[in-house]
Amino acid sequence: MAEESKKEEGFEFQAEIKKLLNILSHSLYTHKEIFLRELISNASDALTKQRFHSLTNEDYEGKELPLEINIEMDEQNKTLTIIDTGIGMTKDEVVKNVGTIAKSGSLEFITNLSEEAKKDSNVIGQFGVGFYSVFMVADEVRIRTKSYKKGEPAYEWRSDGTGKYFLHQIEKERRGTEIIVHLKEEEKEYTDKTRISSIIRKYSNFVSFPIMVCGEKANQVTALWKEPKKDVTAEQYEEFYKFIANVEEAPLFHLHTSAEAPIQFYSILYCPKVNYESVILKKLEHGIQLYCNKILIQADCKALLPEYMRFIRGVVDSSDIPLNISRETFQDNRVIQKMKNILIKQVLGLLQDIAKNDKEKYEIFWKQFGRILKEGVHFDFENRETIAQLMRFNSSQCKDAGELVSLGEYTERMKPEQKEIYYITAVSRDTIEKSPHLEIFRKKGVEVLYLTDPNDEFLLSGLGEFEKRPIRSADQANLDVLKDADKGIVDTSSEPQNYDAIFNHLLKTMKVCLADNVTDVTESHRLSESPCCLVSPDTSPSVHVQKLIHMMDKNYQMPKKIMEINRKNKMIQNLARMNEIPDNQQIVGKIITQLYENALMQDGVVFDPTAMVPRVNELLEELTNAKLGEGKKIII
Ligand code: ADP
Ligand code: MG
Repeated sequence: MAEESKKEEGFEFQAEIKKLLNILSHSLYTHKEIFLRELISNASDALTKQRFHSLTNEDYEGKELPLEINIEMDEQNKTLTIIDTGIGMTKDEVVKNVGTIAKSGSLEFITNLSEEAKKDSNVIGQFGVGFYSVFMVADEVRIRTKSYKKGEPAYEWRSDGTGKYFLHQIEKERRGTEIIVHLKEEEKEYTDKTRISSIIRKYSNFVSFPIMVCGEKANQVTALWKEPKKDVTAEQYEEFYKFIANVEEAPLFHLHTSAEAPIQFYSILYCPKVNYESVILKKLEHGIQLYCNKILIQADCKALLPEYMRFIRGVVDSSDIPLNISRETFQDNRVIQKMKNILIKQVLGLLQDIAKNDKEKYEIFWKQFGRILKEGVHFDFENRETIAQLMRFNSSQCKDAGELVSLGEYTERMKPEQKEIYYITAVSRDTIEKSPHLEIFRKKGVEVLYLTDPNDEFLLSGLGEFEKRPIRSADQANLDVLKDADKGIVDTSSEPQNYDAIFNHLLKTMKVCLADNVTDVTESHRLSESPCCLVSPDTSPSVHVQKLIHMMDKNYQMPKKIMEINRKNKMIQNLARMNEIPDNQQIVGKIITQLYENALMQDGVVFDPTAMVPRVNELLEELTNAKLGEGKKIII
C-alpha cells in the first residue's frame, strides 16, 4: 500500500448528525446505559448479515471465524471495546453508514419529541437512537473495521463526537468491527464486568449470537419461541418482550403458539401496555421479527399482520419460508399469507378470551388500542363480525363517560319489541345528553350508544347491522322506536281550541318559510319536551359526520333535513294561535327562522351569527313591549 492512502483524512459530520449528537448529549441522560444495547444490536445486525452471506456466498473473508460478540474492558485506560465478527465495513461504507443518517425522518422525529418523551427510554426505544448514543458516555470513539469482501483494506474511524471524524487505513487481520469506547471520566462504571453483564442481561439477553464478557457468555441465546410453553417462565416472556420491543415495562399480555398444519411455525406475540402512537402522534411503523429456523430473515416484517394490528410485537419462525425471500415478494408469498390468516385468528381469539374472562385488562387494552383495532371493521371483511364484537362504546345506560359496553351486551338487554340498535354522535357525553333526539329513547327506556370518536359512526354505518339487527342513527327519520310513540299518552285537554286545524296550518306556514332550508316540516313523535328538532332522511350520515366531511371538503353541501315539530310544546301551541292572525305574519316568520337555527345549534352546527343577533333583539323587543302591555302586534 502506498503511504499516501494511510494518511489520516478529516471529514465533517452531516448537519443532522451534529444536531442529533447535541440532543443526545443534553436530553437522554436518564438512561445512558442504552448505548451498549445499541452497539450490541449493531454488532448483532452485522453478524446476521454475515450468516446470510455464509449461506449464499462461497468467497468471503474469515471463513473460520465463529459468529460472536466479545466485550473487553480496560479499567486503567478507561476503555470498553465491543468486537464482532460480522460483515464489517469498507471505507465507503464507513463514510456512508456512520457519517450520515440513512433513515430520513428519525432526526425530525427525535427533535419533535417533548423533553419528557426524550427522557423516557420506552419512547426512545421505539425507534432506537443508534450508534451515536455512544457519545453520551464517550469522549472519543474508534471504529476499527474490516469488510467480509475479499481484498478490502481495513480502516479506522475516530471522533470525539463534536463535529468531525477522521479516517485512516490500518492493519487488521480479522473480519468484523471493533468499537473502542473511550469513556468520560464520570462514566468509569462501564469498565466493571458485573455492571456490563447486568446491562446485557437487561437489554440484550436474547441476541442470537453469544456475547462474551471477558471470556464468559453473558446472554441466553436460546430461541424462546421454540421452547415448549411449560418450560418458559413468566419472567422469560417478560424479558424477551422488553428485548424485542426495546422498552422497560412489561407487556399487557402475550400469546405463545405453535402450528403444525397447514404451515408449521412457532410464534410469540405481545401486546404492549401503552399505545405509543398517541405519544409520538404518528403511525407505528414496526412489524414482526421473522425467522427461518432461528435465522432472522426480517426484523420488521409488516406482511405478517394487518395494519389494524400494528401495535403487536413479536417473533414468528417458520422453516417453510425460503431464506432468500425478498421484501417485495412478502405480500404475495403464499406461506406468509397463510401464516397471517392464522395469526389474525389467534390474536382475535385471545382478545375475545380476555374480553370475556378479564374485563379490567380488556378495558385497558381497548382504551389504548381500540382506536387501531376497530380499523379492521373496514379493512378485514372476513373478521369484521368478530372485531365488531370486540368494540366498546359508552351508552345511555352507563354511569359516566368512562364506562363501556359491547354490542353484545347491548343486544342482550334490548327490549323484546326493540328491533334496531341506536347510536348518537357528538363531541362529548355532556353534549349528547342535552340532545332533543334522546327524548323518545329516555321515555321508552331504550338504550342508545354514545359515539364520541367520529370514526365510530363510519364504522357502525359501514357495519350496517349486528346480529341481524339494523344499526341506526338516533337522528334519522322513520326509526322503529317511533312506532306507537304517542300511544295512550296523548293528553289533548290542555290543547288550544281547534288545535288540529291550526297546527296543520302552522306546519304549512313553516314549510313556506323554511322552503330553502329543509325538505319538509312534520309533526314529531320523538319529542316530549323540546319544541322542534332536525332529523336526517334515512340514508344520510348524521350531522356530526357531515360536519367532518365539510371540514375536509369545503364544497360539500350538507344535505337538507326534515324539521320535526312537537305539537305538545306550549310555545308551539302559542305560535299556532299567533299564526292564525294575519297581522302577525312577520313576527311568526322570524320566530320560525329562529326555531330552525336553534335546532341547528343544538346539533352543534355553527353558522354566521350576524343575521341572528339582530333578529333575536327584535324578538326580545316585542317580548318586552308585550310584557309592558304595549305590544299591539302580538295577539294571542
Ligand atoms: P441502525 O443500526 O439503525 O442502522 P446505527 O446508527 O445504529 O443505525 O448504525 C448505523 C450504521 O452503521 C448501521 O446501519 C451499519 O450499516 C453501520 N454499523 C454500525 N455498527 C456496525 C458494526 N458493528 N458492523 C457493521 N456495520 C455497522
Ligand atoms: Mg443500530
